[in-house]
Amino acid sequence: MAETIKVNSPNVVYTPEYIEAKYTYHTTQVACDSGCYVVTPRSTEFVFRTERRVPRLGVMLVGWGGNNGSTVTASVIANYLGLTWPTKEGMKEANYLGSLMQSSVVSLGTGEEGDVYVPFRNLLPMVHPNDIVFDGWDISSMDLASAMERACVLDWGLQQQLKPHMAAMRPRPSIYRPDFIAANQFDRADNVLTGTAAQQHDEKEISPSTLFAVASILEGCPYINGSPQNTFVPGLVELAIRHDVPLAGDDFKSGQTKLKSVLVDYLISAGLKPVSIVSYNHLGNNDGKNLSSTKQFNSKEISKSSVVNDMVSSNRIMFRPGEHPDHCIVIKYVPYVGDSKRAMDEYTSEIMMGGHNTIVIHNTCEDSLLASPLILDLVILAELCTRIKLRAIGTNEEFEPFHPVLSILAYLCKAPMVPQGAPVVNALFSQRACIENIMKACLGLQPQNNMQLEHKML
Ligand code: NAD
Repeated sequence: MAETIKVNSPNVVYTPEYIEAKYTYHTTQVACDSGCYVVTPRSTEFVFRTERRVPRLGVMLVGWGGNNGSTVTASVIANYLGLTWPTKEGMKEANYLGSLMQSSVVSLGTGEEGDVYVPFRNLLPMVHPNDIVFDGWDISSMDLASAMERACVLDWGLQQQLKPHMAAMRPRPSIYRPDFIAANQFDRADNVLTGTAAQQHDEKEISPSTLFAVASILEGCPYINGSPQNTFVPGLVELAIRHDVPLAGDDFKSGQTKLKSVLVDYLISAGLKPVSIVSYNHLGNNDGKNLSSTKQFNSKEISKSSVVNDMVSSNRIMFRPGEHPDHCIVIKYVPYVGDSKRAMDEYTSEIMMGGHNTIVIHNTCEDSLLASPLILDLVILAELCTRIKLRAIGTNEEFEPFHPVLSILAYLCKAPMVPQGAPVVNALFSQRACIENIMKACLGLQPQNNMQLEHKML
């Protein structure tokens, strides 16, 4: 399989520094006139400019010693070293399954033997996860080798090989404010900063994660919120816009919500009417322990519950304005299951002539092994977005970056943040198509239209 892509078109120019592509962006404007929709196709000419030089990427994780932080660090080291380890099912080798960029493919076009698929990561120059350098903060002082052991995620044989590479990694001390974390986390808070100028006035409503985000913006460094909490308060988003520093979030869309954003899209687009969606989780990792506190659970419930809204409101045949399926989310802490989270969902839909269609799903898997590849995709895509600029031909001579609120990363977030006034899209494959089509636009390529007209005529 070829590793590089070169577009053969007068609209695409490769210089040593940039890939510059002219791209016609087609949209459709709809107006309602005397009971009739008047539909007007429009097109705008853009130039996309992508910087080709891939920098070294450092990632600082807030909560580095947690399950996600230790697992993603260990997994990158294991991949970099090409580690293999024995299990009762045979030898396993390090990989990046679950990463959109590293393990999924996109169709490039048609070759002599049919469609040609390439790894997503090959579309544009981007950082390879093996080259990422990790650092970070944690209120727990445990070194990363011990934190990996505490997490109980990776196989023992792999942990033994990784320990020497992680024992010297120690999280930096962090800001601990008991109001913003469950009381049951107190006993791990042995690595805590005291009395810094950020806390000078000790405003009770400012959370540690918001302080980290402010610091990141002031350093000119993109900040991604993989947690459910309300880090991005309005003033912070304004600060990011003023400093032109990308933000993305909230909350990794790793398991149950990801499936929900596929299943509800399927039901509604098939004309089946979901009327009740009930999701139970139980998990036994430290995140589950933290979420067993009511305040922390409430923020998770909010970030999990909005995921069907856009799909429901798009279909006025099934849902009257304001009508909504019942949507209930339950999370319980069960220490024994550790990181191997259980998610049980029941989707009930109304079907033709008063019938009902009930789908029940049971999902068991290691939570942190779903989240780790998402963390890698988020940081790699956020970095790529800082190297893409665009301008509309005829209206703007200056190249501009994307809006600092990086809604292009919505695929990876449970509660995607979008620029004020922009629509929120939750449907998973629309979110994936957004990433794919913007990356293709950077190469002057049109979106996949799936029409295959060449096979539909005699
Ligand atoms: P974890 O509890 O194992 O790790 C969180 C770490 O943050 C802990 O080590 C804790 O000591 C540390 N911490 C707490 N307050 C801190 C502070 N003020 N400063 C620095 N460190 C602090 O949780 P996890 O499983 O690693 O998940 C991390 C986050 O990602 C959680 O908010 C979780 O809800 C979110 N998330 C995880 C998944 C997933 O694992 N599949 C999915 C979606 C969202």
